[in-house]
Amino acid sequence: MADGVYTFFKDGLRLDGRRKDELRPLKIEAGVLKRADGSCYLEHGGNKVMAAVYGPREVHPRHLHNVTQAIVRYKYNMASFSVDERKRPGPDRRSIEISKVSREAMESVVLKERFPRTAIDVFVEVLQSDAGTRAAGINAASVAMADAGIPMKGLVTSCAFGKIDGEVVLDLCKEEDNYGEADVPVAMIPRTGDITMIQMDGHLTFDEFKEGMKLAIRGCDQIYELQREALIEKHQNDLKAKE
Ligand code: UDP
Repeated sequence: MADGVYTFFKDGLRLDGRRKDELRPLKIEAGVLKRADGSCYLEHGGNKVMAAVYGPREVHPRHLHNVTQAIVRYKYNMASFSVDERKRPGPDRRSIEISKVSREAMESVVLKERFPRTAIDVFVEVLQSDAGTRAAGINAASVAMADAGIPMKGLVTSCAFGKIDGEVVLDLCKEEDNYGEADVPVAMIPRTGDITMIQMDGHLTFDEFKEGMKLAIRGCDQIYELQREALIEKHQNDLKAKE
């Protein structure tokens, strides 16, 4: 940063060496927790998140149950130690908002009518954060739901695009998120092409928005492949363990 102005590009590349259309490195592992029905550990750049799924199971408190379909609950939590400046533990406005939009992004894929009077509970714990934690949480939750064997129309996949130094780029890191001009997290169902979440922080022209959506869709397609690979690997390991 010079004179309060952040320069986001050096020799045409971003500060972490990425191109404008490049994702940060991802690592996805399914089925990492013994006591959850489904789980996933995911790293995306500097983000480290764990997702655990329980259900379909009995609803508590009971009055929340729906006689025609399962209810989906989603709890996003950012650990105090996951950020530079210690976060006060417990829910806050931000985590309540992220839990709500993430649940809405996920529940349309779940075949809820098959499990009336039950709950599907999703817990996402952010252990280390570097911008894009809601997307990382959704990607992990989606794998954890599939690992739990919950019937779904497809996996939900998420990544963000944004604008830095007037340029539209894929997958903002923390500096780009904090000092950039726009941040747009997107979630979609790559199998059907349906978009299940778009949020926008900052300003973009319509053309910039369209350019960014193209980047996000390509980014989601790449993440989707890694989600599938993680589930296939878990399945193969389960089969080997039974032999
Ligand atoms: N952040 C932080 N403290 C907070 C909330 C957020 O340091 O209390 C950081 C964290 O690295 C997070 C980033 O700011 O990943 C961007 O947060 P945002 O609310 O945009 O959500 P995210 O991009 O993680 O989905």
